[in-house]
Amino acid sequence: MTLQASKSKLNHNLRAILGELQALGTSITGAQLSKILARSDLSIDDVAAFVTPNPDSYSRRRIARTECFEVLVMTWLPGQGSGPHDHAGSVSAFKILRGTAHETRHLQAADGLVDPIGARQLHESEAGVDQGGVIHSVRNESETEPLVSIHIYAPPIRELRAFTRRTEAHAPAEALVRGRSPCAPVVAIVGGGYSGAMVAVQLVHKTARSGTPMHIVILDGQASIAEGVAYRTPDPRHLLNVPASNMSAWHDRSDDFLKWARQRDSTVSPYSFVSRCAYGEYLRATFLNEIAQAGPQTSVEIRRQVADSIERGGARGWRIDCQTRESIEADVVVLATGHRSPIDPLSDRWYGSRARYLEDPWSSPMLAAIEPDESVCLLGTGLTAIDVLQSLGGRARRAPVTAFSRRGLLPATHAGTPLTPLDPRDWLEPLLRAGTGVTTRALTRGIRRAVRLAEARQDWRQVIDGLRPHISAIWGALNARDRSRFLRHARAFWEVRRHRMAPTVGEEVREAARTGIFSVAAARPLSARGDLDGATLTVRRRGESVPELLRFDWIVNCTGPGSGREFGLPSSVARLIGAGDLEEDPLGLGVRSTPNGQAAVDGRVIEDLVIIGSLRKADLWESTAVPELRLQAAAAADAIIELVNRPSMQSGGGHRGRAVAYERSFGDGRR
Ligand SMILES: Cc1cc2nc3c(=O)[nH]c(=O)nc-3n(C[C@H](O)[C@H](O)[C@H](O)COP(=O)(O)OP(=O)(O)OC[C@H]3O[C@@H](n4cnc5c(N)ncnc54)[C@H](O)[C@@H]3O)c2cc1C
Repeated sequence: MTLQASKSKLNHNLRAILGELQALGTSITGAQLSKILARSDLSIDDVAAFVTPNPDSYSRRRIARTECFEVLVMTWLPGQGSGPHDHAGSVSAFKILRGTAHETRHLQAADGLVDPIGARQLHESEAGVDQGGVIHSVRNESETEPLVSIHIYAPPIRELRAFTRRTEAHAPAEALVRGRSPCAPVVAIVGGGYSGAMVAVQLVHKTARSGTPMHIVILDGQASIAEGVAYRTPDPRHLLNVPASNMSAWHDRSDDFLKWARQRDSTVSPYSFVSRCAYGEYLRATFLNEIAQAGPQTSVEIRRQVADSIERGGARGWRIDCQTRESIEADVVVLATGHRSPIDPLSDRWYGSRARYLEDPWSSPMLAAIEPDESVCLLGTGLTAIDVLQSLGGRARRAPVTAFSRRGLLPATHAGTPLTPLDPRDWLEPLLRAGTGVTTRALTRGIRRAVRLAEARQDWRQVIDGLRPHISAIWGALNARDRSRFLRHARAFWEVRRHRMAPTVGEEVREAARTGIFSVAAARPLSARGDLDGATLTVRRRGESVPELLRFDWIVNCTGPGSGREFGLPSSVARLIGAGDLEEDPLGLGVRSTPNGQAAVDGRVIEDLVIIGSLRKADLWESTAVPELRLQAAAAADAIIELVNRPSMQSGGGHRGRAVAYERSFGDGRR
């Protein structure tokens, strides 16, 4: 076990604590941590070098990290506090070194919101412990005094899971507490991001009208429902990359989000780019409002569980085994597992200390610990890198942020005013009708020509936006070789034009570049060697043969979520493929599905296995943003209701994986 500590700043007392922690070995309990802190006579002077007041939010400074534990000092200015959170399974202990901490403990209710269940004050030199399951919030309520505390986590915090406080005095909806009626078919939704939550919303909405009995179970290990990785960010600088007018959660109520946003802020216009955390609130409100209107025959359950394996079996047809060893039986399974985790480009080429490497900026609580005068390297130049740049820029950033990617391409920016998409059918339809099938080269040529024509009169973005409704048809018309060619040669150029930054974000990025704070380069990271205060990165710039060594205080992996063979499939999905219940596409983008989202395997439909979201990229390509997902959620709900209304399901017999022949209605990339 290697100790990665800020050695130069460690005095005798801190060294003694670290020595004791190292002696504990690999399996550390909360009681052991608390004993070590309680008997140490650590004072504020011992950690003075790690006290970093930050006017924006409470700050965290890491003293040490091993594979088994990490030690942090937190500084809370008067009035600063955390929201309700847990430590994703790490045990922890803390001690107050200056000031008074007000700790509130919370309990998660059936609707996923948390309610306070108790509060206490911890004064200087008092210690607390969390055996792993506590949801709490901490606040410095003093008007004058800072609060400084030392915290030990074992293992190091993987993720600070943020929970949502109940703000209105409503009890959880009846449908969430009434329990399952014995005759109701069970629909298990694996994944509670936008896709999973909206399938549930559509099912509740439609069963309220049809009277179909149904028990819906949503499984997700995350703290909050509906937000997923995109709308979980607490940073209000992170904006939607789609205008408000096109972000309704419903396909058939186009102004739903716009109306909601305007009730909170009358200045929101159809072309406003609203913050993603506000959008997360909207989704949660949409979800809870709809469940409150569920019919008496519908029940809903939210389980904070990660599905480990999904297999045929049990009385209902499907058995889901969760990481906690709990099992759930279901008649229908919906796979809404969403984004695949980012790839760590340096996973096997990083040497030495990882104390200054953030492998996943979405889950790491350490992003906020990066100081304005510390240099940062971002691996990746896409929208994730832009998010991180914005988060780093909060406190008048002084040190540079350098972003690298193979091509050094930044996302384009939306136009300052709304544009009308250009209808591509006059040049696209002849291409799609061509007897030999369309090629990537012919398409690229067609798009370039359309862009040239548009630029002469208006704006290239109109061409890209005009293509969007036709993407699935284009993708279906490409053969496997041309899809692969697109992924290798055109994907990066397409993505930066298709997924654009909000105009104000683009302006911020340009300003950071103008002042020299932000730069982008085309280079490939080869390896990195970390030490206690930073890392040396070896990169090869595009077109250069000699590698270059660059020194940074921090390196942040911003490669972002993705799809394709290199990302690998979630293990539960891989097992379903192994069992013949799903078929992977040859490019590893996802799995085969019918137009309404049911799994398709070798030309058969697996009717009781429904897919929504990025796994459907295999057949649709465009399958990750709200405008597509809301249509998928409605179609999936229709298919499920039609299935459970069949007599075999109503008699409680389950569907048992009936597979029916399926004629593909669009291309399958196999030609
Ligand atoms: C940073 C970012 C910004 C975006 N901004 C926009 C935008 O402005 N507009 C837009 O239209 N789209 C945007 N998108 C696209 C976004 O993908 C969709 O809008 C949408 O959020 C996708 O939701 P999802 O539920 O399909 O996936 P996710 O949000 O990834 O949710 C999947 C959920 O499944 C859970 N899960 C996975 N595996 C399991 C398992 N085995 N057991 C239990 N649970 C599991 C995960 O914990 C997760 O909560 C953005 C995406 C990102 C990453």
